Amino acid sequence: QLGETAAELDCRAYVVGGFVRDLFLFRKNEDIDVVIEGDGIAFAKTFANAHGARTHTHEKFGTAVITFPDDFKIDVASARMEYYQFPASLPVVEMSSIKMDMFRRDFTINTLAIELNPDKFGRLLDFFSAQKDIKDKVLRVLHNLSFVEDPTRVFRALRFEQRFGFTIGKLTSSLIDNAVKMDFFKRVAGKRIYTELKLILKEEHPAPILLRLLDYDLLRIIHPLIKIENDLQRLLETAQKVTDWHDLLFIDESYERWAVYFMTLLCHCDLDATLEICNHLTIAPRYRKMFGETRIMMAEHLTRLERRKRMDNAQVYNLLKGLRTELILYMMICTTSDTAIKRISKYHTQLRHAAITLSGKDLLDMGLPPGPLFSRTLQAVLEAKLNGRVRNREEEIAFARQ
Ligand code: ATP
Repeated sequence: QLGETAAELDCRAYVVGGFVRDLFLFRKNEDIDVVIEGDGIAFAKTFANAHGARTHTHEKFGTAVITFPDDFKIDVASARMEYYQFPASLPVVEMSSIKMDMFRRDFTINTLAIELNPDKFGRLLDFFSAQKDIKDKVLRVLHNLSFVEDPTRVFRALRFEQRFGFTIGKLTSSLIDNAVKMDFFKRVAGKRIYTELKLILKEEHPAPILLRLLDYDLLRIIHPLIKIENDLQRLLETAQKVTDWHDLLFIDESYERWAVYFMTLLCHCDLDATLEICNHLTIAPRYRKMFGETRIMMAEHLTRLERRKRMDNAQVYNLLKGLRTELILYMMICTTSDTAIKRISKYHTQLRHAAITLSGKDLLDMGLPPGPLFSRTLQAVLEAKLNGRVRNREEEIAFARQ
């Protein structure tokens, strides 16, 4: 249907990029990117009108998002006939607009396009040997100036390498080394680095990617204050285990897994360093508090959980109550103490759900005067319940009366 609309409008439509790559890799991908040779915005509006969908357009970039009533989305971009001026004023090259669009992409494996117009429906365009690279499991840039054009592609390279189990081509690898040596990153805004870092942290297995960043000495690009101690590998592997443990047990509970990995990277940073890193990467204020103050305060709590010989359930509960899952998992990653791990996991699997049936109304009925004594009594009953001294409503009432 996309192709039919394109033919009606006398333009050509192609499905491109990650979606086509993943077809060849037999991987699920529901992000459909369409490139239109012609006016992508007019195409998106016509198609959306005919199919009861909405569009959101960016006139400046010639792009649009078509959103269907069930929230399914298609990204549309326009490819215009242009001439490509290489960054270092090398010869100007003339290309068809779809080829040009593919040439601007990061890696060969992302340059496949499938024609959608009915006259050539399903024809695969492979201008840069993408099929061969997918078959050989190699990641290659399209030209030697790729990382000069956009140094953040280095982060994307390592992300795809690990996600697909590919290797980085020899030349591409030396271009990365060169980008690091020449410090191409110094002109990249912190915000863009953060975007790429987050994409890495949101991968299913971020740890090996971060270790690859370390191989290329790229963690300092995120921020020079990120302290790389020799326990990073262990910490990252533990982060994977701890988050896997959590995700298996609490399948329905959502949390920001990427933030757990980010805090793991920050684990040797003090408050000042953390705030400077947050500023540079333009991290939103709601995360700053968690990554900075709260995380560092937790380190003190953790020492208690590690060192105190005896702690009853109520003491563990009072130390950890109200903490976000991200911080709970972070503490489990940071400690090597079995005692602390047991205490924290007990809190997260059992204690945090503790509740009592007794309410303020019950206390009123018992003749207790409203005031601070109310919350102290309810807290005492909850602690008694956590420590197994009361088990049911009758025992709660009896305990409150004492
Ligand atoms: P993912 O599976 O992670 O979504 P993707 O390949 O679909 O991967 P996107 O980040 O959604 O990646 O980007 C869509 C397309 O845009 C990619 O296929 C890629 O070719 C191109 N692209 C994205 N970022 C860059 C970049 N920095 N430089 C060049 N091309 C890029």
